[in-house]
Amino acid sequence: MMDRPAASRRVRFGIVTAIIAGLVVLVVGGVVAATGGLTGLGGPAGPAGATASGQVVTPSTSPSQVTGPASASAASASPSAGPSAPASPSAGPSAPISATGFRLRHTVVPMGFPLPAAGNYRYGDRWRVPRVGTVYPYEEVRGRVADGTLLRAHDGVDLVVKTGTAVLATFDGIVIDPAPIWRPWDPARYGRVVVIRSTESSSPGYMAIVAHLSSRAAKVGDAVHRGQVVGWTGRTGNAAGTVPHLHFELRAPFRIPQAWAGIRRLLDVFDPLPSLLAADPGS
Ligand SMILES: [Zn+2]
Repeated sequence: MMDRPAASRRVRFGIVTAIIAGLVVLVVGGVVAATGGLTGLGGPAGPAGATASGQVVTPSTSPSQVTGPASASAASASPSAGPSAPASPSAGPSAPISATGFRLRHTVVPMGFPLPAAGNYRYGDRWRVPRVGTVYPYEEVRGRVADGTLLRAHDGVDLVVKTGTAVLATFDGIVIDPAPIWRPWDPARYGRVVVIRSTESSSPGYMAIVAHLSSRAAKVGDAVHRGQVVGWTGRTGNAAGTVPHLHFELRAPFRIPQAWAGIRRLLDVFDPLPSLLAADPGS
């Protein structure tokens, strides 16, 4: 009898064990299934990473989509796109259209180089070098000598080059008379000049002055094109006693606050060197 109950207990134990085992299997299976599900999401964690990166790609896609329109708007609103212009080199940079945020020593105005590539030139005196002479209202004060006399700033960059070298138009534009704009104009200083006001969409109204020419190939009122010969280098004006060079200035179609030692002026002049270097076929 003891065997039977024992046997039946074993049987019952076996049944209970089986049931428990079955439950365990079910539970574990469920957990595995659940884990599998999680692992499915997690394993897909690889894929999910892909999904995640896909989602990352999605946002990064939308910025690039934003960038598209942004650069498009940069292209359409080119001048105000000054800061974003470098982001869309294909659209080409544009010169600033106002003094707001204007960087006097870093602004690049798109233009052609004023000398032929084979001109054998080198860079001489730069912008803002103090110079003796009357400081005209369109010039920056850039120094003071012991007796209190103010020094003017050199308003451009000198390109040292032999006399008789062709001078090229830096813009598509119109040759203008400087006298009504920068008063008093001083031919004794500038010598023979050609001043071109740009009609290019990336630099509207900007003016380039080439000075000390020996002779001109364009006159006031002429429409000229980039690269066109507008004159030849010389030593007219106050360049008579200097090493032969082309004096080159850029002036903006608006005025920019400038100061030296607390002396403030609103001027259209700025450093043409970055524009020259950008246009220089030899740099
Ligand atoms: Zn000069």
